[in-house]
Amino acid sequence: MHDPIIIPTDEGLFCPAGNFHIDPWRPVPTAVITHAHADHARSGSAHYLAHHLSLPIMRHRLGEHRFTGLDYGEQRRFGAITLSMHPAGHVLGSAQVRLAHDDGRVWVVTGDYKRDPDPTCAPFEVIPCDTLITEATFALPCYRWPPVERVGEQIWQWWAAHPDRPCILFTYALGKAQRVLAVLTAHADRPVLVHGAMVAMTEIYRQAGVQMLPRATCIRWARAADLECLARIRAQPQSPRYSAIRKASPLPSCLPK
Ligand SMILES: [Zn+2]
Repeated sequence: MHDPIIIPTDEGLFCPAGNFHIDPWRPVPTAVITHAHADHARSGSAHYLAHHLSLPIMRHRLGEHRFTGLDYGEQRRFGAITLSMHPAGHVLGSAQVRLAHDDGRVWVVTGDYKRDPDPTCAPFEVIPCDTLITEATFALPCYRWPPVERVGEQIWQWWAAHPDRPCILFTYALGKAQRVLAVLTAHADRPVLVHGAMVAMTEIYRQAGVQMLPRATCIRWARAADLECLARIRAQPQSPRYSAIRKASPLPSCLPK
């Protein structure tokens, strides 16, 4: 009977044969990070290993630490373990962690993943293994998502049907916001006003080559002002609502006049 390759500890998942943790929730010497969402990537560890596309996001969110980036399929040795990362299809840089022990066993830790297509990240890959440790955020059978193309079409129809009022979508700042901006490129090319919390993430995605709608920013404004600005940018210049808002206060410089 072999010892397990991964065991639960107070810090999170630990690989004794390689002496590293995966997505630890407390500071550890070596943290292998599946992706940059805050419930997986936490600050304070001495050394981080993640897919290289996760690193700009982690630097932005965690501050400067010792980071090492891997490409998908690239291998690293840790004791008796050969570690590699493989696409998880979840967000930019998201990775499943494959752990191959010298005794021949292979374990895979999925991190968050999805099998649906996503224009903002590499598609999920099935990694053969002896033991799979899976996330299960939406694993209940009641969760059945429509195809992303249909959702994009529905968002666009709702947006296009209301030219005289702000159309506001609430999304996660990392991942969902960029997926929506990418999916909508099939229907529109106009700018979208995004909340300040999404700005850096969206630019990191753009620098990674992800095609998305252009954005304007409401980073310096209070929430009430955000909504007013949304009304301005979405209103057609010929509409009475647009004229009324223009009279009420001047347009911020980053918005189209
Ligand atoms: Zn996640």
